[in-house]
Amino acid sequence: MGRYDRRVAVITGAARGIGFGIAQRLASEGASIAILDLDEAAAQEAAGRLELADGARAVGIGCDVVDTAAAEAAVQRVVDELGGIHVLVNNAGITRDNLLFKMTEEDWDLVMNVHLKGVFNMTKAAQSRFVEQKYGKILNLSSVSALGNRGQANYSAAKMGIQGLTRTLGIELGPFGITANAIAPGFIVTEMTDATARRLKMEPEELQRLNAEATPVRRVGQPEDIAAAAAFLCSDEASFITGQTLYVDGGRKLG
Ligand code: NAP
Repeated sequence: MGRYDRRVAVITGAARGIGFGIAQRLASEGASIAILDLDEAAAQEAAGRLELADGARAVGIGCDVVDTAAAEAAVQRVVDELGGIHVLVNNAGITRDNLLFKMTEEDWDLVMNVHLKGVFNMTKAAQSRFVEQKYGKILNLSSVSALGNRGQANYSAAKMGIQGLTRTLGIELGPFGITANAIAPGFIVTEMTDATARRLKMEPEELQRLNAEATPVRRVGQPEDIAAAAAFLCSDEASFITGQTLYVDGGRKLG
C-alpha cells in the first residue's frame, strides 16, 4: 500500500527539475500523475519516463499556467483522463534576474504572472473539484529568495507573495477538507540554477561549490530533497498542517 494509491496528482512545470522529481516520488508511492508544462511534447516525454505503481497512469499536458482558460482546460482534461484530481503542486517557475535599475517592466510582469497568476489560475481551477469532494492537497513552490536576494526583486516579491497566498488558501479552504502549504527550497541543482551560473559567467559546478560552502549542511540540494518533503506535506499524515511554508534549504535561511 502506497500513501498515494488511487490518488491523482497534478504537477505544473514538471517536465524536468524539481517538478519531475516530485512527480517521480509521488508516482513511486502509488499516485497517477499529470505532468503539465509549456511544451506538450516535453510533458508527454517526461510522463513516459515515470516509474508507475501497478494500476497507476500518467499523462503529459501542454499548459501555460498564466493562461486562465488553459489552466481550467488542463484540470478538466486531468479529471477526464485520470478520473479525478486530489493533489495540485504549483511548481512552474521562471527567473528573469537583474538589478532593479536594469530590470524591465516585461521581466517584472512575466515573473509575477508565472508565479502568482499561475498559482491563482491553477488553484482556482482545482479548488472547485476539491470543494465538491471535500478533499484536496495544494503545495506551492516558494523559495529562500523570498527573504530577499540581490538581482531578484521580481522573483523574491513573487515567492514571498506565494507564502501569503498559501496562508490565505489555508484559512479559506480548510473548512472544505483542503490543505495548502508551501516549500521554500534553497539551492537545488536544476537547469534553473545552471542558467543562473551561466548568467554569472561561472561553470555550474563552481556555483554549486560556492553555495554548498555557504550552506550549514555543506551541500547543495537535489530535486529528491524537495520531493521527500512534498510527499509528506501532500499526504494524509500532514492533514493538521496548513498555511505553512517549510524551508528545505540545508539551513541556508538560518544565515
Ligand atoms: P526548471 O528546471 O527551470 O523547471 C521549471 C519548469 O517550469 C520548466 O519545465 C518550464 O518549462 C516550466 N514552466 C515555466 N513557465 C511555465 C508556465 N508559464 N507554465 C507551465 N510551465 C512553465 O526549474 P526548477 O529549478 O525545477 O524550479 C521549480 C520551482 O522551484 C520553481 O517555481 C522555482 O522558482 C522553484 N525554486 C527552485 C530553486 C532551485 O534552486 N532550483 C530554488 C527555490 C525555488 P520551459 O522549459 O518550457 O520553460
